[in-house]
Amino acid sequence: MSAPVLVLNTGSSSLKYRVVDAADGTVLASGLVERIGEATGRVEHRVDGSTHAVDVPVADHEAAIAAALDAFATHGPDLAGVGLRAVGHRVVHGGTRFAEPVLVDDDLVAAVHELAPLAPLHNPANAVGLEAARRAFADLPHVAVFDTAFHQTLPPAAHTYAVPAAWREAGVRRYGFHGTSVAFVSRAATAALGRAVDDTRLIVLHLGNGASATAVDGGRSVATSMGLTPLEGLVMGSRSGDLDPAVLGHVRRELSLDADEVERQLNAASGLRGLAGDNDMRGVVAAAEAGDADAELALDVYCHRIRSYVGAYLAQLGGLDAVVLTGGVGENSLAVRARALDGLAHLGIEVDAHRNVTERPGPGWAARISPDGAPVAVLVVPTDEEWEIASQAVALLDAAAGARPGGS
Ligand code: ADP
Repeated sequence: MSAPVLVLNTGSSSLKYRVVDAADGTVLASGLVERIGEATGRVEHRVDGSTHAVDVPVADHEAAIAAALDAFATHGPDLAGVGLRAVGHRVVHGGTRFAEPVLVDDDLVAAVHELAPLAPLHNPANAVGLEAARRAFADLPHVAVFDTAFHQTLPPAAHTYAVPAAWREAGVRRYGFHGTSVAFVSRAATAALGRAVDDTRLIVLHLGNGASATAVDGGRSVATSMGLTPLEGLVMGSRSGDLDPAVLGHVRRELSLDADEVERQLNAASGLRGLAGDNDMRGVVAAAEAGDADAELALDVYCHRIRSYVGAYLAQLGGLDAVVLTGGVGENSLAVRARALDGLAHLGIEVDAHRNVTERPGPGWAARISPDGAPVAVLVVPTDEEWEIASQAVALLDAAAGARPGGS
């Protein structure tokens, strides 16, 4: 049965929206409001294969939602006619409080604000978006889906940092991110393998601008590479991933950088950008192919880190059914897929050169790029976080309706 959901992803100066049918992932319309709070803003609305763009000032998030509603009214679809079931919200940080999607009420909005110290760039914007959307869609249920929730199953050994008690009491631990994506592709991969969820061990490599590795055992996250923040782990577009924590003090002293500047450079001037001057993998691969030594090194470091995590997580899982690749790089970069998993045949992990080129995954289903008979499948699954948010929102509402006396 069709179940359209309006999915909102609110950033500090942008609002992404999509109307998606939770039943099958069909996108009815999508859009982006950019440069909220600046002198000139922009609204891009996509429907029926056309993009309608308009430059207008957008004062705040309330105005951003109003601008999106205008775009629906002008270009369709008619939101009242669509029969929206819910509004689904992407919220970045749920701390240790939220392991599941949650119906939005005043307490939930307050909790998202309270968790702001853990995600100062994201949670305050998410909370403002929640409040504005609740006013704009007062008659619809709103559901918050947290990017950290899927990783709340991490065992203490995997989420505890070996730091003083006072730090741990201040919330310093591994939370993990990309959870919505990992939940989505894990399910699709398990279905493609034809295995029972309880009996399936996966390593999910989400390689986008941000990048993470997650070990999934029986549908539960048991190890993940991102930590207190999304800075830890794999090499990313502009983030360093893992490094010796003593580097922070060293560059503060030697380069006279303050703590905020060190953190900014680790997030925005490191990773592929720091090594090769380009945060876009397409540019890095092209430069390496043209003989650029910096780009070649960047690719080597990127792939070396991935292999290290695959080996580590294989050891944690004690066996492996599939490596699952997703995100812009994982879904599209044949060169990185082949290179990152090169030399792992002794672990049963191999990319078939022909299949890597010819096999194409579809929305929600996997392409197998490992050879026939390989002990470990290598699967490419396009992620769809909005569909996952819509599905989780509808599942929550259905469960709530079923639990109510007289509910169906
Ligand atoms: P985000 O994390 O912002 O959602 P994406 O998942 O879209 O980002 O991933 C963006 C990354 O995917 C960029 O580094 C981009 O270069 C890379 N990418 C997209 N298409 C290709 C392609 N055809 N070949 C190589 N890399 C690609």
